Amino acid sequence: MAGLDSKLVNVVGDRTAKVLDSVFGYKTLSDLIHHYPRRYLVRGELSDIAELKEGDEVTVLAEIFSSTSRKLHARKGSILEVIVTDGSAKMSLTFFNQAWREKELRVGRQGLFAGKVGVFNGKRQLAHPDYEMIPDGDDVDSAVADFAGKFLPMYPASSKLPSWKIAQCINLVIGGLDEITDFIPERILTERGYPTLQQAIAQIHNPVDLDSAEKSRERITFDEALLMQLLLLERRAQLRALKATSRKAKSSGILSAFDAALPWQLTAGQLQVSREIESDLAAPYPMHRLLQGEVGSGKTVVALRAMLAVIDSGGQAALLAPTEVLAAQHLRTIEKLLGPLAQGGMLGGVDNATQVTLLTGSQSAAARKDALALAASGQAGIVIGTHALLSESVAFADLGLIVVDEQHRFGVEQRDALKTKAVNPPHLLVMTATPIPRTVAMTVFGDLDVSTLRELPLGRQPITTHLVPTIEKPTFLDRTWERIREEVAQGHQAYIVAPRISAGTSEDADLDFLYGESSPDIASVEELGPKLQSGPLKGLRIAPLHGRQSSEVKSATMQAFAAGEIDVLISTTVIEVGVDVPNATVMVIMDADRFGVSQLHQLRGRVGRGTSPGLCLLVTSAAAESSARERLDAVSKTQDGFELSRIDLEQRREGDVLGATQSGSRSHLRLLRVLRDESLIESARQIASDLLAEDPDLNRYPLLKEELKKLQADAAAEFIDKG
Ligand code: ADP
Ligand code: MG
Repeated sequence: MAGLDSKLVNVVGDRTAKVLDSVFGYKTLSDLIHHYPRRYLVRGELSDIAELKEGDEVTVLAEIFSSTSRKLHARKGSILEVIVTDGSAKMSLTFFNQAWREKELRVGRQGLFAGKVGVFNGKRQLAHPDYEMIPDGDDVDSAVADFAGKFLPMYPASSKLPSWKIAQCINLVIGGLDEITDFIPERILTERGYPTLQQAIAQIHNPVDLDSAEKSRERITFDEALLMQLLLLERRAQLRALKATSRKAKSSGILSAFDAALPWQLTAGQLQVSREIESDLAAPYPMHRLLQGEVGSGKTVVALRAMLAVIDSGGQAALLAPTEVLAAQHLRTIEKLLGPLAQGGMLGGVDNATQVTLLTGSQSAAARKDALALAASGQAGIVIGTHALLSESVAFADLGLIVVDEQHRFGVEQRDALKTKAVNPPHLLVMTATPIPRTVAMTVFGDLDVSTLRELPLGRQPITTHLVPTIEKPTFLDRTWERIREEVAQGHQAYIVAPRISAGTSEDADLDFLYGESSPDIASVEELGPKLQSGPLKGLRIAPLHGRQSSEVKSATMQAFAAGEIDVLISTTVIEVGVDVPNATVMVIMDADRFGVSQLHQLRGRVGRGTSPGLCLLVTSAAAESSARERLDAVSKTQDGFELSRIDLEQRREGDVLGATQSGSRSHLRLLRVLRDESLIESARQIASDLLAEDPDLNRYPLLKEELKKLQADAAAEFIDKG
């Protein structure tokens, strides 16, 4: 008998162990028994052959209808043609020079046949399929355990290792395994009606019926969810145990001066979230809060108020932005919102005033030196910057709060790099405009508290979105350019967004990765500009904006656009987040199918910010019935960012959803799906929190504690791997 940590090689042999390692990275028995079937074929219920399409990689359960072997005429050798059937449709299996297989492949027998569906002479066929015959009455001796049951497990497999070989290995392992001890407290199993781990593992691989397979699957998924939530709640507890400086606004300090001067009223949501943040900041342990809100919901003011509270208490705040364009814009916005309150130490500065400074990678040495001095001396209450803020030369007098704008561009590591710049762990506020469904937030950002801004400030204009399908409606494109001319004629401005900077490159390396090879037909900023300037947009003031320009050029262009000196800005997604030019009313997105759903939603949030309604036109050459068109339809039909982010997440692989934000989770989350398993995650969260409330160190549950330690160790290891 062997333990779960034993090496596979001792059980399945050298060759198979090598394949299991190279294909799946499995080394131990435990790795393999957690490889679960995707589905089950029912023995005796044959696969539907009529349904198979050319090119499909399939495993079918079928019965042999006929089998003929003949000599080839043209060249030496023989061909064995076996016809299999599901009772109605037929398919042929062909083998060259393997006449000996005729003995196994006898008429009337059933087997599993795996391969890629090809078509030959109009008939579907599998050439040289892998197969495994189901033992029948004549083969009692070979009736090995793997096909003993009624349900045949279909595993994620590869051509080197078909599903039934995996089944054989797993059965071999299970057959020789020590009893599996259960790390979930019995009380919880009873409450939830779950089988023991031993039973669950046995049933998921060799179910007696589909119900018990399902129950076992749920039990194992629950294990993953529970461990995950325990891990996250422990991290939270660790954060709570840290000591932070409590930051409270003064009764007549910069925050109250700011509130008094603010030209509009905060929305109810902004007030609510501000209160949550203020109470976090006052706590003696660090705040870890995620502020999510629709594009345009007014997160900046909320963040600014938090920064001012910290300044009131004698501390400083850092605002981390994903791009230089955004950092520069934050500087302008914040200086404008603060007015004289940003003129600290200068002529015209008022009581309580502070200074705001900018630190980016491409600013001049002199500007950088000034900014560094202001940060280090504490004169700058607010330091805004890009990744440059993370560099070692940046020091603060008393960093009390870090605000991260647009979380998805920053990893945990970067957040942590900034934290080292403070004496006590600083408070952290993370903002995102991509709303995150609750359970995703709970899983991906489980160590953060979440605040949500749902309403938009009063007077926000609606945005209408239309598709411009260039294949079916080529004239719509001309109409698109006309619409831009009309808006400009009314004194408004327009954005045109293209996926690429120049032909064959992409602003976002992710795009090529996501959508495959770069295609020469994709619109680019550099090609589009001259074409429109000399064609349909002749006479308009057009300027390009993209990530390869120097920061001076970028910032000059943005300022000119904001000042109304440019009519049409042609850009890449550098304008995706946060850019705020209220006079811009129309946005055209070229090759819109190249962008993700949430990204499109973010992009169009740039229009409709002023007093006129916004219009967004999604240009696409994707075919009418394609999934790309479905996504674009969804974007045009709803303005609910939560709904869209859900669609977005559903289309991504789970690993991408969890991403780098949740180190260590991948190898432990085999079955759990954050969107599908919402209710399971919610109960796991509750149970985890009850367990920890009752026994913070889990001393009463040593096995559970040990399992959690393994997960923690792996999470730490993955974290270190990423360096
Ligand atoms: P986002 O949440 O997308 O970052 P912003 O903070 O940029 O949104 O706010 C969008 C716009 O709404 C800005 O011009 C901002 O000044 C304005 N704004 C924010 N809060 C309010 C409010 N309560 N009333 C009116 N306008 C507001
Ligand atoms: Mg913003």
